[in-house]
Amino acid sequence: MRVVDLRSDTVTQPTQAMRETMLLADVGDDVYGEDPTVNLLQQRLADDLGFEAGLFVPTGTQSNLLALMAHCERGDEYLVGADAHTFRWEGGGAAVLGSIQPQPIPQDADGTLPLDKVAAAIKPVDPHFARTKVLALENTWWGRVLPLDYLKAAHDFSRERGLGLHLDGARLFNAAVACDVPAREIARHFDSVSVCLSKGLGAPVGSVLVGSHALIDKARRWRKVTGGGWRQAGLLAAAGIYALDHHVARLADDHRRAAYLAGCLREIAGVNLLGQFTNMVYVDVPAGRLKDLDVHMRAAGVRISIGYLPTLRLVTHLDVDDEGVERVVEAFRSFFARG
Ligand SMILES: *Cc1c(COP(=O)(O)O)cnc(C)c1O
Repeated sequence: MRVVDLRSDTVTQPTQAMRETMLLADVGDDVYGEDPTVNLLQQRLADDLGFEAGLFVPTGTQSNLLALMAHCERGDEYLVGADAHTFRWEGGGAAVLGSIQPQPIPQDADGTLPLDKVAAAIKPVDPHFARTKVLALENTWWGRVLPLDYLKAAHDFSRERGLGLHLDGARLFNAAVACDVPAREIARHFDSVSVCLSKGLGAPVGSVLVGSHALIDKARRWRKVTGGGWRQAGLLAAAGIYALDHHVARLADDHRRAAYLAGCLREIAGVNLLGQFTNMVYVDVPAGRLKDLDVHMRAAGVRISIGYLPTLRLVTHLDVDDEGVERVVEAFRSFFARG
């Protein structure tokens, strides 16, 4: 029985076709800028998203870090959601490695940072204060899609206030598919965008940062400094290109399955469904029952993540099919039927 793993969309296995593409990739030494497949991936995403240049990096954490270090100098500040990945879940890297101060802003329930609160957090130009340089948004945020008109407002605001605008677009393509727009319609509001290839897109490794030539040149230098220079990384970039070619439109299947799962869970007495957003479903399970639920799910061939988040998050992805969703629903039904 194949396990249905709902812990995250990072758990996918590379498909056979993706592996075959990886095997055949042309490669070279990327520290010399000579890996043709890496160059292709970088330019491909830059072109698709409407930017001059791209930089392939191992992780979204490094991509966001390099973006912030490219936007900011030592003693500068970035404005960021208090529940954003770039603030909470990246080990404080911008402060630790970039000497960049985070200024967290409480987010609204839809993931937006109210622009009046952002404005109030901008520091005066005065030696007492860190210099506010960049606003960082996240889309999707916990699965939620930021409204397109909010992105436009954030763009106009950042121009008025002379701030850079960065997007943690780990799941940019989920947002684009959910809005039924090309990803560049979202990306065009930003000065830099980080995209994960290893989440819903199903590549084994990698993120790409896109921006201007000047921004990417700075980011490349910081990538080297932080130990992130690649050699024959085209083997990995090939998987990213394959994912962009074959795994974007199908994100709609993940969203459809998440919506179906949420609809079924809503019907089960005892399940407190909190919501469904793109490929994520949130369920409130009393803390005292989580361990039992986990044991029950494992026996049914289902993996769930307990302990990381205050609520249970179920994530659909490339390796969760319709039959898998039915198994999950059945497992929830039998657990809650026990009372
Ligand atoms: C996963 C994720 C990242 C970081 O990616 P890693 O590859 O795990 O370092 C950044 N932002 C968001 C919103 C993510 O979900």
